[in-house]
Parts: sequence; C-alpha cells; structure tokens
Amino acid sequence: MRYGIISDIHGNLEALETVLGALAGEQIDVYLCLGDIVGYGANPNECLERVWELTPDVIAGNHDYVVVGRADLTYFNRSAAEAALWTMQRLTRQSRQYLRDLPLVLRLPDLMAVHATPSRPEQWGYILSLSQAAAEFSAIPNELAVCFIGHSHEPVLFEESDGLCRMLEDLACCQQPGSRHIVNVGSVGQPRDGDPRAAYGVYDTASGQIEVKRIEYDIVAVQKKIRKAGLPEYLAERLAFGR
Ligand code: ZN
Repeated sequence: MRYGIISDIHGNLEALETVLGALAGEQIDVYLCLGDIVGYGANPNECLERVWELTPDVIAGNHDYVVVGRADLTYFNRSAAEAALWTMQRLTRQSRQYLRDLPLVLRLPDLMAVHATPSRPEQWGYILSLSQAAAEFSAIPNELAVCFIGHSHEPVLFEESDGLCRMLEDLACCQQPGSRHIVNVGSVGQPRDGDPRAAYGVYDTASGQIEVKRIEYDIVAVQKKIRKAGLPEYLAERLAFGR
C-alpha cells in the first residue's frame, strides 16, 4: 500500500494542485489529509472541494475547527485571527458543514494520524523536541508502526527503536522490524522550515520507506491572491521565505 500524505494546506490552491500533480505520478493507493485545509490563504472553499473529492481520510486541524466555532480563536496571533475571520465570512454552507464533521484522529490498519499530538489531539500541542516525541510514542497503539502529524509546518522524523527515541537527520527512512516513527510531513501551503517549497509525504508499507518530499510552486501567484483578497500582507511575504 502506498499512502500520499498532505497537511496544512491553508487555502493555498496553487501549492495544493502542484503537490497533487506530483503525487499523481507516485502510484498512490490512499490519500490522507491531516488538517488545516483553511486559514491564511485566499482559496479556502476551492481547497476544501479538492480535498473532499480526493479522499475520505481527512482529519481536522485547529484552523478548520476555529472557523466553524469548534475551537477557540483566543490563542491565534493577529494575522492568524484576521485570516480566520476573513475565512469565516467566505465559507460556503457545504464547506462549513464539512469542517464541522471532521474527526480529530484517523486510524487505519497500517497507521494513525492526528493534526497535533496522539495523546491529546484536542489540545493542539506541538511535537517539536525529542522529549516531547518520546512521551508521545506511548500514546500510539503498540501494533501501529507510524503516526503521521502536521501542525508545526516543520517536517521531521522521530524514530523509536529498542526503547530509545531519536530525531533523524534525513527526511526519509526505511522502517526496520521493531522500529516506530512519528512523522511530521510539513506543510503544503505555508512551510516554516526556511524552505519555501511545498512539502508532502509518501509512505510505502511494502518497503517500509517513509519520505518527506518538496516541490516548487507559483508563490508569486498566491501572493497576488492574498493581497487582492485584503488578507494581512505578512501572510503573502512569509511564503517567499518559508517562515
Ligand atoms: Zn497549520
């Protein structure tokens, strides 16, 4: 089975179409979307339609729940809050209903997926450090070898093997018997690791290969849309720097 994994699209239709174009050549059997389909970008409804046509295996991010009143806006910074309010005013009725119904956790025979953390997905915590990752492995059912996450917009692979946890230097690995992984596949629509290219993941259960891939997309076109929509200027600028 080959999984194509996308997360944190954030209303960036150009990045989403580019990533799906790349995944179309990867012999993907099942697509997963790990949330934050909306927020920040100028095409929330278009991105939602693309995702719901693509796959039923979709979970909610904090931005998805905030814009339908299922999560609290209080913790958003100013530009995130402005973008959330902008998005709320533009969502179609169908988009709102779709977001309201998204679950927080996805469990498939080979893997689990959450937007934030497996231990408390509804609290929207981050897994950034080795100690945070080490604690989260205990929240993943023993029979599952991998948990995919999003939320930080920074791709990273954590590996647990023989009771030891480490952060891998590469954004690719090959699973060995007994090893388990927490994989942040990065962000399609607003990368924050200093690399402005869109990020996505591919997982092949037959070979055990897990990889985060990157692809360039038309950032200038997206910046123009964000400015034309009257969204905060910073949301256009940051895309060029991957921050
Ligand atoms: Zn996000």
